[in-house]
Amino acid sequence: MSTFLGTPSPSVPGQGNIHALEPFPQAAAHALRDTQMRRNVGHATHTIRTKRLRAVAECPDWEELRAAGSAIKADVMARLPELLRQLEENVTARGGVVHWARDAAEANDIIEGIVVATGSDEVVKVKSMATQEIGLNEHLEAKGIAAIETDLAELIVQLGDDKPSHILVPAIHRNRAEIREIFLEAMPGVDPDIAAEPTALAMAARAHLRRKFLSARVAVSGANFGVADTGTLAVVESEGNGRMCLTLPKTLVTVMGIEKVVPSFTDLEVFMQLLPRSSTAERMNPYTSMWTGVHPGDGPEEFHLVLLDNGRTNVLADEAGRSALHCIRCSACLNVCPVYERTGGHAYGSVYPGPIGAVLSPQLTATGADGTGHDDPNSTLPYASTLCGACFDACPVRIDIPSMLVHLRGKQVDAERGGLPGPQATAMKAAQWAMSSPKRFAAAERVASALGGLAGKDRTVSSLPGPGALWTKSRDLPLPPKQSFRRWWAENRDSGADGTDGEETR
Ligand code: SF4
Repeated sequence: MSTFLGTPSPSVPGQGNIHALEPFPQAAAHALRDTQMRRNVGHATHTIRTKRLRAVAECPDWEELRAAGSAIKADVMARLPELLRQLEENVTARGGVVHWARDAAEANDIIEGIVVATGSDEVVKVKSMATQEIGLNEHLEAKGIAAIETDLAELIVQLGDDKPSHILVPAIHRNRAEIREIFLEAMPGVDPDIAAEPTALAMAARAHLRRKFLSARVAVSGANFGVADTGTLAVVESEGNGRMCLTLPKTLVTVMGIEKVVPSFTDLEVFMQLLPRSSTAERMNPYTSMWTGVHPGDGPEEFHLVLLDNGRTNVLADEAGRSALHCIRCSACLNVCPVYERTGGHAYGSVYPGPIGAVLSPQLTATGADGTGHDDPNSTLPYASTLCGACFDACPVRIDIPSMLVHLRGKQVDAERGGLPGPQATAMKAAQWAMSSPKRFAAAERVASALGGLAGKDRTVSSLPGPGALWTKSRDLPLPPKQSFRRWWAENRDSGADGTDGEETR
């Protein structure tokens, strides 16, 4: 236990699916060419955020609830080791078995061992970000164990041999016609004349999954919350598939990130109000399953809880970055983000897309001595934002994502330049020098006007020579006006030749 929280997660290879395959700028450039995906994501996020605003407006104490959620999470981070020990004691006292996993490789080995011991070669799964993070499905498949997703959107993603693109709605990038095609291709026994209608598609998935629920001997779930003072685990979902997985199979394995612990059962009161309104815009969550250990003749006979670090203690070590661990995975920040809306989730590469992914993923995978992991494609994610602040406004636990993005960018820049002033710092110093003297400023204006030859018809320079190319690589440079205000003043109102001498004495 002490080593679990005392040492950072060491190995990148053990971290599972959390590394992006290519940097965000390149991945986003590809994604932006997919007009169908942009239409699907734009339509879905617009619908969800409009509904969320309505659901939130109904709560007169919404801001107080947000503040309470934030305070509970801050308290959890301040005494995480103590709360995890308490959770372990209470789960064990009620017949559960607790396992500690430093990284994805350890977690996968533990789960594989549990499944193999049951003699089963198939598990049913409740939608879980933690198991996606560790690449559990791929690991089990390599060992000859089929992992069947039972959440409808996850099932669509799995049958389509695709990747999730949203925390809550993993198949948000698919429309109903595309889903019909996937079912026809990959779902055994589906009606070849099935309509591309939500009801027909849902009924086909229901029939397919019902057979799996009834035959599975092992289920794997994540957890939204783990309650330290009772040893209770909670899963919130809206289809009832989770309830089937959590009650029917004989063996239940739950994988929980260590940050999901909450001190007491009464804390759930706050989160059960914040989460449904922020995620699905519902007043109350449709299916909230809670279980505490095992009970003869009722539900699973064996319960295993795998507590997963996988980089979380690294995040905890950074005071300015640790509130990323407060996230309750509601996805409200994704639905309001102008960058996510245009690129979709795949461009982020990592399991956690959108604004929360931009701050959480690079921290989870940071392995360099400087704490940035700057050779990791995830290190480009803090730039996947306009810093508009919409994510902070929407976040039910008040995570200040924009400030954290700036903090992570700063760490990145510091790491890349290795202690030497970078091009940006040099340019700022030069600007400071030029602007601190009216004569030098006037000279700089004359140099800037000389750039006119490089400008296009729209009076912007799209490509500067030399080191300036770094600036224009991702921005246009507008030319200054033909006549500066200072020159106009000198010509029209001042007695000096160009006004600069007069300025100097003012
Ligand atoms: S960062 Fe906040 S808004 Fe985004 S998913 Fe997490 S809890 Fe929700």
